[in-house]
Amino acid sequence: MGNERKPEWLKIKLPGGEGYAQVNSIVKKHGLHTICSSGMCPNIGECWGNGVATLMILGDICTRSCKFCATATGKPLPPDPNEPTKVARTVSLMGLSYCVITSVDRDDLPDHGAGHWRSTVMEIRRVNPNTTIEVLIPDFDGRPELIDLFLESEPDVVGHNLETVERLTPLVRTKASYRRSLKVLEHIAKRGFRAKSGIMLGLGETRDEVIQTLDDLLAMGCKMVTIGQYLQPRPTNLPVQRYVTPEEFEEYKQIALAKGFEFAESGPLVRSSYHADKAQHLVKGC
Ligand code: SF4
Ligand code: SF4
Repeated sequence: MGNERKPEWLKIKLPGGEGYAQVNSIVKKHGLHTICSSGMCPNIGECWGNGVATLMILGDICTRSCKFCATATGKPLPPDPNEPTKVARTVSLMGLSYCVITSVDRDDLPDHGAGHWRSTVMEIRRVNPNTTIEVLIPDFDGRPELIDLFLESEPDVVGHNLETVERLTPLVRTKASYRRSLKVLEHIAKRGFRAKSGIMLGLGETRDEVIQTLDDLLAMGCKMVTIGQYLQPRPTNLPVQRYVTPEEFEEYKQIALAKGFEFAESGPLVRSSYHADKAQHLVKGC
């Protein structure tokens, strides 16, 4: 079990080119963090080459230590009060029509970072009124008042990942729970926002469990989903149990769309923010 040889379809294009260099220099100049690099995302060459990046706020040290994640764990620094301004300017300099923002979990802060999140999205909107803003938020400890505080910033798409099926959640995520994450998504959808979630395959889940997860998401009003292959980022992370074939991913995409999802990206290299801008038409109605 675990860590079979990587198949051909997971061969990754190395980062490079003018677009990549430009994004790299903008991000570095403003002292920002991207999940693309800290999460060791396999699409960095393609996305950065196309001028798309997912900015990570609230630092690059997480208070949790999920077993699949490459982000560093420890005691984070206090939030940078200038970060909302820096992020908004970066989105503008990158000329993004669709931006994705995410963060580490900040269980050390009384509001779990909800207020900082709110300020950041509001500032991006103020500086970039035509940019669609997608966020990938932590669970804010599952507290509805903190989710509501954040939602005052009115993002266009609100993502919160389940990451895996219910049975495997205690093995894969720390502190977070499958049911609590579903409740977070339900709360988001009930407030009238577009809810989005993502799962990884290859951790030992069964086909029935994947389909059950899709049903659970739909039942919460979440109609946007991403499904991708789990890749072990470091030797200390969970091993890959199986490489799911591109055909199986395509089948899950078709199942999701047939069940009623409005947006479904499913493929070996799909990540929560991969091709996120394809949802532009849903948000803008064009
Ligand atoms: Fe970054 Fe998302 Fe692209 Fe990965 S898929 S490189 S995290 S924008
Ligand atoms: Fe990674 Fe888990 Fe922290 Fe998210 S909460 S950044 S998945 S360790």
